[in-house]
Amino acid sequence: ARAAAASAPLTPGALADGTPVPLLANLGKPGGAAEAVELGAEGVGLFRTEFLFLSAHQAPTVEQQREAYTELLQTFPGKKVVVRALDAGADKPLAFLNDAHEENPALGLRGLRALRASEDILREQLTALAQADAATDADLWVMAPMVSTVEETEYFTALARDYGIKTAGVMVEVPSSALMADRVLAIADFASIGTNDLTQYTLAADRLLGSVASFQDPWHPAVLRLIREVGDAGRVNGKPVGICGEAAADPLLAVVLVGLGATSLSMAPTALADVRASLLEYTLDDARVIAEAALTADDAAGARAAARAAATREK
Ligand code: PEP
Ligand code: MG
Repeated sequence: ARAAAASAPLTPGALADGTPVPLLANLGKPGGAAEAVELGAEGVGLFRTEFLFLSAHQAPTVEQQREAYTELLQTFPGKKVVVRALDAGADKPLAFLNDAHEENPALGLRGLRALRASEDILREQLTALAQADAATDADLWVMAPMVSTVEETEYFTALARDYGIKTAGVMVEVPSSALMADRVLAIADFASIGTNDLTQYTLAADRLLGSVASFQDPWHPAVLRLIREVGDAGRVNGKPVGICGEAAADPLLAVVLVGLGATSLSMAPTALADVRASLLEYTLDDARVIAEAALTADDAAGARAAARAAATREK
């Protein structure tokens, strides 16, 4: 797949009618950036900053962070790079940030909640990001993980802007934020939907627990309906709505997500070629018809089958 991607012309992501759908990379360390560009990433839709913190017994310094963010941003001159503030807790606990004794860590002090409880760490991260931004030419966007209220949206975007971050947004990965997306997107500059957590919280199925893995399917119409809420809110407020969970890497689901209102898709770089090819087969009207078919199913399998049938008709 890699050789095919390298030899194919790397046009920007778009639908058959020319509607642009920027295709971005999910990255977990600066080292993957050059390869992502080779594979056709038009920017970064999710830069997970946990790697800087996970091996440390204490938070990295501002200087250490600035170096890492600068290295990343330098690889994408003129391009959009969405950096996520530290998302510690649950699956990725940090000794200096999280309480190890929560009975339900996925429902606990994680993501922005944990950062807010240790605000110095968030302030240092924003300081380092603003410094890296000033030293480079990328288009830096910064977002908070696990935002579940309008008030948290206000808190994060105001703080980020105080530090000179020009584009401040939130991840929508909790159903409450999806249901309140019209209010959330009146405040935030953008939303990015994390379908991994959004699915976990919508279906009440721990994403780390094998015994409930069959519930962790982003094709579930309940998840798709929430995504539609966010897409609609993006349109009404004139704000971009990206997708950065694994769902964006599924070539047919990617079409559905665009039909629901997603304006960009971010994924593991190895998935970019197949998603690019799939988008080129459908117009925006097709994508909306296919999404509508998926929305009206009873379950994930039904949504997949309905989307496949609609896609065959629309092709
Ligand atoms: C998500 O939840 O979909 C997401 C992109 O974030 P993470 O997988 O890092 O929790
Ligand atoms: Mg998440």
